[in-house]
Amino acid sequence: MKEILYRSTRGAAAPVTASQAILQGLAGDGGLFVPAELPRFDRSLEEFAAMDYQETAYQVMKLFLTDYTEAELRSCIAGAYDSRFDTPEIAPLAEADGAYYLELFHGRTIAFKDMALSILPHLMITAAKKNHDGREIVILTATSGDTGKAALEGFADVPGTKILVFYPKDGVSAIQKRQMITQKGDNTCVVGIEGNFDDAQTSVKKMFTDPVLRVALEKNGYHFSSANSINIGRLVPQIVYYVHAYSTLLREGRIRAGEEINVVVPTGNFGNILAAYYAKRLGLPLHRLICASNENKVLFDFFRTGSYDRNRPFVLTSSPSMDILISSNLERLIYHIAGDDAKVNAALMRELSEKGSYSITESMQGKLEEFWGGYAGERETAEAISSLYEKTGYVIDPHTAVARHVYGLYTAETGDPRPAVIAATASPFKFESSVMRALGQPEAQTDLDMADALAALANVPVPEAVESLRDAEVRHTAVCSRDRMEAGLRRFLGL
Ligand SMILES: *Cc1c(COP(=O)(O)O)cnc(C)c1O
Repeated sequence: MKEILYRSTRGAAAPVTASQAILQGLAGDGGLFVPAELPRFDRSLEEFAAMDYQETAYQVMKLFLTDYTEAELRSCIAGAYDSRFDTPEIAPLAEADGAYYLELFHGRTIAFKDMALSILPHLMITAAKKNHDGREIVILTATSGDTGKAALEGFADVPGTKILVFYPKDGVSAIQKRQMITQKGDNTCVVGIEGNFDDAQTSVKKMFTDPVLRVALEKNGYHFSSANSINIGRLVPQIVYYVHAYSTLLREGRIRAGEEINVVVPTGNFGNILAAYYAKRLGLPLHRLICASNENKVLFDFFRTGSYDRNRPFVLTSSPSMDILISSNLERLIYHIAGDDAKVNAALMRELSEKGSYSITESMQGKLEEFWGGYAGERETAEAISSLYEKTGYVIDPHTAVARHVYGLYTAETGDPRPAVIAATASPFKFESSVMRALGQPEAQTDLDMADALAALANVPVPEAVESLRDAEVRHTAVCSRDRMEAGLRRFLGL
């Protein structure tokens, strides 16, 4: 098999192997790692249709992570996609009202971040071993809710790692907060911040690049790594479930081999939909990649006009994991549509950081035809939840609802009859107050009572991830101000 090396979207750094790219996270020149050459499937669609999730994962990931041995990769996969998911299918498809919902929320934290963050720790410690890096990995993350908890679950009790997560103590949902403070694992530390997510994020970024802290870490045998979605070790595992979705449709006789389908992805940082783009480049018959935004519709505007402009108010919505004005992973797409030209991309990214905006050329815009952008406002999002429930009894979360609404806009505008897979990125139980409100239900007094009411309404059991919170011991009560975050880190690591 041909070795795939990774180079920076900004060009200056020397190409590295997949395992080195995973260890480093971000390239030294501030760019993101991209495959120097995109691989193609070496299995047929019919062969994929006969595979389970784990085998599909191996056959896809081996094409990108070429310096991992078969045994290493299979062991990472077996350690990640196991009984921690509440269904052996890992990512089942549910048909409702003429579309297929790809349920990516059957992992430990009931949101799609689990799909990648349950395997990233395994990929990382394997990478450290391969590269003879004996230092302990310290994962440091600021979270607005979903990423931090999924990273905690992934890294909890993984030997050779420690993880510290900061979250805004008043800025997450009730269920998310309970998930944080009850986190298990001797190597985990969770701290609430008196401040908002941006405060936490800014301080974390500063700690990452602080030279004094770096020396202190080195001396004690530690090094920082990042679990956020720019790591190629998060992107590659996300390609798998698009192949799995197509295979499931083929196996069930709902499509013919080679028949094109559309995918609809509720988008924030552009990681999930970029994985669909890579799946298409591998040879998966995807027609349109439909990018669904909420009221923070920078991406919708970008696909319509070719101009990216973050200079606008930041809107808080019922789909908070998509409340983003800088979609970091879009940089990888820009690099590819520029003809894998790092110079062009680096110039545009410089404009983005200096002016907050940039425009691509017409020829680059011509390469975006496979994308279609749309967005949903708050009323439309709620309406998408209630109308689907009334028609079918199926309950979706607000992020998935944004995608359902945009899919409706797409079919109305194009009349495209191809089957569609909608990425269902969170369980409705994770955002139960918004869901209950959309369904016109009274909000119960406690978050767990509300889960019971939602379960009765949706006719599904309360997910184990929520059930287990009922009597979970509270383990993390620390709260600090923004300027005490570094002290918290030093105490946790004994520096
Ligand atoms: C993170 C997240 C998204 C956005 O995914 P990106 O890869 O950042 O585009 C959508 N929905 C949910 C529930 C999420 O947690």
